[in-house]
Amino acid sequence: MIQKFSIGDIVVMKKPHPCGASTWEVDRIGADIGMECSGCGRRLVMPRSQVEKRAKEVRSDSIRD
Ligand SMILES: [Zn+2]
Repeated sequence: MIQKFSIGDIVVMKKPHPCGASTWEVDRIGADIGMECSGCGRRLVMPRSQVEKRAKEVRSDSIRD
């Protein structure tokens, strides 16, 4: 289960994007989550519940609690 998202986090999706990448960088947080594909740079806005369902893992680059 995915706990929470922060801007700059890397979300690893269960299913790769057609471009071959399966990681997305979070760039907007709200009721919807905005993400940019690490492979092709495509932006996507998805309801939080969808992201939680499709995400396999969230990696935080920065150090926080
Ligand atoms: Zn892509």
